[in-house]
Amino acid sequence: MERVAIVIPPITDFYYTPHRGAFLGARYVKNFLEKNGFECKLFDFPNKKQKKTKLPEELGYLKPYIEKNDGLFFKEYKRFGYSHEKCKKEIEDFSPDRIILSLFAFAYAREFLDFAWFLKKEFPEIPIFAGGSGVSCFPEYFEKTGLFNALFCGEIETTGKEVLKALNGKIQGIIKPARFTEENELDFIIARTLSTKRKNHYSTLLSRGCPKNCAFCSNFIVQGRKFRTVPIEKIETTIKQLKLKNANINFEDDNILLAKEYLLEVLKMIKKTALDTTFSFENGIDHTFLKPDFVEQLIDLGVKQFNLSIGHIDKNILGKNKRPVHVERLIETVNLLEKKEIPCIIYFITGLKDDSFEKTMQTMKFLEKLHCLIGISPFYPVPGIAGFENKNIFEEKSPVLTKGSSFYPWNNSLTTKELIEGFKITRQINLSKRKH
Ligand code: SF4
Repeated sequence: MERVAIVIPPITDFYYTPHRGAFLGARYVKNFLEKNGFECKLFDFPNKKQKKTKLPEELGYLKPYIEKNDGLFFKEYKRFGYSHEKCKKEIEDFSPDRIILSLFAFAYAREFLDFAWFLKKEFPEIPIFAGGSGVSCFPEYFEKTGLFNALFCGEIETTGKEVLKALNGKIQGIIKPARFTEENELDFIIARTLSTKRKNHYSTLLSRGCPKNCAFCSNFIVQGRKFRTVPIEKIETTIKQLKLKNANINFEDDNILLAKEYLLEVLKMIKKTALDTTFSFENGIDHTFLKPDFVEQLIDLGVKQFNLSIGHIDKNILGKNKRPVHVERLIETVNLLEKKEIPCIIYFITGLKDDSFEKTMQTMKFLEKLHCLIGISPFYPVPGIAGFENKNIFEEKSPVLTKGSSFYPWNNSLTTKELIEGFKITRQINLSKRKH
């Protein structure tokens, strides 16, 4: 049987959240290839080890903030993953016939390409392929390196046949889907990401595609805008096999509140199989869908924390970004969660087009009064999203600058200094909220 190594290369950043490092896209590829007769192994290197590393040159402008070390900003840059040599050794032990490198975010393209060059040198005979969201948004960027035999864009369910041809050396270049996946083609993939004494953490996806048009979102590039859910029977079969114990299941990047009844049905089914399971939505759920009776149902079914995403609080900015907001509903939900003693984090984005330091502060002041922690995310672009359709800028500027933690003023609405100031004030507010 031919062997395919599916590799997520190490990344560098100020932080990384291992219990969210499920790499579900790469797991879907593994699942597909195994069904088609390949032996596969997934190498999720970012989950393996972390070590201090040098700040990339492009981020020299962050040095004064790191050196100031007031406890509110990051102290060091880190590498998440083994050294190149150790990664090579692990891959070599599997003796693959093909290597597929998976890039989950364009922001890590620099590390990804460094790793690909290294592997090409070490394994000159093995064909190397690339795929993932980070490749799908700008495949030409990777194609021009000449490193890869083919580049896989979009969902594996629709490109599968072409991917198999490419793996067998029959076609080369960029493989793009002609259509998006149908509902009945979606398999259920769930990954255990972390185990602690108290919990076994899992991550999964119940749906794909979102019909909404938030300007800052890149979800549509890989998944399209047609909302589809995984058939419940497939979920039930897998959950029964898993024999969950002390599990928390995180639904990741999933706009699942578009199918509320479906979600309730899935949670009930899981609780019936494993009563002690809890649930979370780490990347945030859309508060506009939440009404008190629905929130109570979710709590009763084991949702242990509510991460809500609002985009911003300024209606003008939200309108321009096509992001709906329902302030009364947000306040009602947070008050209910307080009464029920359920933790809540509300996420917003700073540095959107037409934002300003004053408007970011207004959002923070509004959230400071609510019973929640605040999650602040500096805006970063993904090639192809609204306002960044022309991808030339990503040829001119380093991908390192597209990491949220680089605090780069992509929209020139807040300066780096102001973005960092907003971030630090948020941390201060959260510290004092935790104390109380
Ligand atoms: S941010 Fe959420 S609601 Fe908006 S388009 Fe993306 S997935 Fe849909």
